[in-house]
Amino acid sequence: MAKTGKSVKRLASARELATLVAGYYEECHRAKAEGVPVGWMPPMNGGIEIFYAMGLQPVFPENFSPVCAAFGAALSHFEAAEAMGYSSDLCGYLRNIVGYVHSDMHGPGVPLQGLPEPDMIMSFGGGCVPAMKIFHILEHRFQGAAVFRADMPQVAVEEIREHHVEYATSEMHRFIDFLERTTGRKLDMERLREVVALSDEACRLWDEIMSYRRFSPAPITASEIGIMFVMVTRQGTKTAVEFLERVRDEVAQRAHKGMGAVEDERVRLFWDNIPLWHNMGIFNYFESSGGVFVAETYSAAWSLRLDPDDPVRSLALKSLMSYPLVSCVSIDRRKEMVLKACRDYAIDGAVFHRNRSCVPISLGQEDIARALDEELGIPSVFIDADHMDSRSFSMAQFQARADAFMEIILERKRAGRA
Ligand code: SF4
Repeated sequence: MAKTGKSVKRLASARELATLVAGYYEECHRAKAEGVPVGWMPPMNGGIEIFYAMGLQPVFPENFSPVCAAFGAALSHFEAAEAMGYSSDLCGYLRNIVGYVHSDMHGPGVPLQGLPEPDMIMSFGGGCVPAMKIFHILEHRFQGAAVFRADMPQVAVEEIREHHVEYATSEMHRFIDFLERTTGRKLDMERLREVVALSDEACRLWDEIMSYRRFSPAPITASEIGIMFVMVTRQGTKTAVEFLERVRDEVAQRAHKGMGAVEDERVRLFWDNIPLWHNMGIFNYFESSGGVFVAETYSAAWSLRLDPDDPVRSLALKSLMSYPLVSCVSIDRRKEMVLKACRDYAIDGAVFHRNRSCVPISLGQEDIARALDEELGIPSVFIDADHMDSRSFSMAQFQARADAFMEIILERKRAGRA
């Protein structure tokens, strides 16, 4: 298997993704050329719905990083960032985007013509430290851009109280004022309700699609998880809803016909932490011995439901909760979420990606693996790698661990049948 590989996509609908990704980046460039204000922002906050409702163009530098990794363009950005003094221990998303914006942004080798320069920069504050720092660095790089910094509190999901939501709602109103003053456009509340309803529908469809992974054999696996692109960049649009409907229809049909994504599903696997964007093909590696990834931690981030009748409050709550569900969550809560997913999806084994440059999501993995073993009898394996940086991944080491792990699970299953 190659050191860098794409995953094999079995769903016809998931194969549309390349067109959707290219279409989104074309739209970003077209917007800039036509004078539509372009704003750079972190994903997982309510800013995207407000942007689409006001006819503004949202751009997500964090999301561009996996695109760079998949196209093999990230290494030159890492080198540029490291030459500026940024440590290779820092988050791969941060190093990629810092190196990218300080290189030729539209030069040869940059995927999809790169990103259009920002007219506005939004920093929402709710995420981890690197997620915030990316935007502070961008403010220095693009000094002509108008800057909005939301003062969102970082609160664990289980500790969010009414006063947090009220404060976050007031920050969303301050954000709307900023956009209206900066762009001269007015937010139409009726249009915002429509956009929030579309966003909510996308979340509902997402949950429905994920629920079909409980079927055995599973009709959709982690190899197709790139479909989350629409949950990051297209929230609140018909494009996202219509695409997810096509995925749902195909997945439902396959589930009811007993058609697995992998013909010979023998071992149901759970993936913890962010995928290896530079080598999505490793999801397929386990398939030769019947291993199929039917659940993962990351996909829980897109399950938040919104209330179109109270759109601003809903988006404030989304901004408070999205990041904490993934990276700012207590270890106890994460343990609870992983154990629940492993029960719900009838998991036989868990693969923990020990992610070198993402400390927030890697913290507590040993405790979670122990709980899986002690409470559910589910074995785990640790894979040392990085979500962005292929230099931190050894294929030989990965194969040795993965093969031994699959052997243990298959042996247990054989013994269980004897
Ligand atoms: S959660 Fe991890 S991957 Fe995401 S921005 Fe923070 S450090 Fe980077």
